[in-house]
Amino acid sequence: MEKFYDVAVIGGGIIGSSIAYYLAKEKISVAVFESNQIGGKTTSAAAGMLGAHSECEDLETFYPFARRSQQSYSILEQELKELTGIDIRRTEGGIYKLAFDEREKRQLRVLCTLKTVEWQDARYIRQTEPAITTEIVGAAYIEEDVHVLPQAVCRGFSQGAQVYGAAVHEYTHVYDIQKNGSTFIIKTQAGQYEVGRVVVASGVWSNAFFQRLRLQNRMIPVKGECLSVWKEGINLKHTLFHEHCYIVPRNDGTLVIGATMVENDWSEKPTIGGMEQMIAKAKTMLPAIEGMKVASFWAGLRPQTFDGRPFIGFHPEDDGILFAAGHFRNGILLAPATGQMIRDFILQREINENWVKAFKIDRKHHVFV
Ligand SMILES: Cc1cc2nc3c(=O)[nH]c(=O)nc-3n(C[C@H](O)[C@H](O)[C@H](O)COP(=O)(O)OP(=O)(O)OC[C@H]3O[C@@H](n4cnc5c(N)ncnc54)[C@H](O)[C@@H]3O)c2cc1C
Repeated sequence: MEKFYDVAVIGGGIIGSSIAYYLAKEKISVAVFESNQIGGKTTSAAAGMLGAHSECEDLETFYPFARRSQQSYSILEQELKELTGIDIRRTEGGIYKLAFDEREKRQLRVLCTLKTVEWQDARYIRQTEPAITTEIVGAAYIEEDVHVLPQAVCRGFSQGAQVYGAAVHEYTHVYDIQKNGSTFIIKTQAGQYEVGRVVVASGVWSNAFFQRLRLQNRMIPVKGECLSVWKEGINLKHTLFHEHCYIVPRNDGTLVIGATMVENDWSEKPTIGGMEQMIAKAKTMLPAIEGMKVASFWAGLRPQTFDGRPFIGFHPEDDGILFAAGHFRNGILLAPATGQMIRDFILQREINENWVKAFKIDRKHHVFV
């Protein structure tokens, strides 16, 4: 038997790494077990938008949780830089959520009632973004929906956790969790570990643990395909967003164009059809894309739950086991608040009741077929 840890986190994506960071900061002995490389799966496929407003369809529960998470990033940027030297590349500029006609403009009306969102008409937008299409009537401007570099945040969390004493076991697949009196035995490809509690944060692959731990919950993969192009000559300052498609200006000279939504496809490879779809959509927002050179393309699997909300909380019958999975399109945005919420569950701190209810594992659900 290997070492004893208070908490084992299964999965070293952005969610597992955030949990490890916030626990280790409280001096809890924590170990992350990751099958591959830290942040190497869905996390590395993400564009990195912190879309608390642009992704929001639920102002009552999702928005306050997402907003708290988004706001944590300004503190984290400084904190992780000082602790690890990693720059999470938090890039200002915000998002233009575009409207191409009066109907789309009306659809943005509710969003524009928020204090942090402002309607801007097409003429004004073209003064700041001359390369944008002439076809829009305007856009909701969301200055605070900035973006970060997901792999950098994930590495920052992971290395920060290690500075605070956490252990990180890469290339260590966990294949079983067994109850052992008041503790658990984690069986991995590198041996067995005894731990006080387990947090399952294995993205869409958490399904295997739901099954093993006798839960009905299931997630389906929603494959997202992206490409990046060199933005030669076009100085895009804002992220452009329309109907789930976006163009994000990274500060490394590229624009990230994403992303398709292909349900129930477990392959992590992009297709020609997916690329064509993204390029066609991107051209409607920024016609100059046509002449840009391709830098890279990739795909990742978003973990989707039956109601689009993540599962964050205790196993209904065993408070030694917690879950933090199913962050679908918003795992980068929601990572800090998720890490803080799991920390607060473990330390028995007060947590917003609405969030506990909205994200609990055994909320009313149906099983995907
Ligand atoms: C194309 C695309 C664009 C996106 N853009 C954004 C965006 O702009 N903003 C945003 O907020 N979100 C975005 N997302 C969503 C975001 O990427 C996910 O919600 C987030 O990465 C989920 O993180 P995770 O840690 O739960 O999962 P993952 O990153 O998949 O991490 C889970 C980890 O668990 C490991 N694992 C699995 N099984 C085991 C096991 N048995 N033992 C040990 N380890 C195991 C895996 O190897 C993996 O590394 C995007 C997603 C895609 C696909």
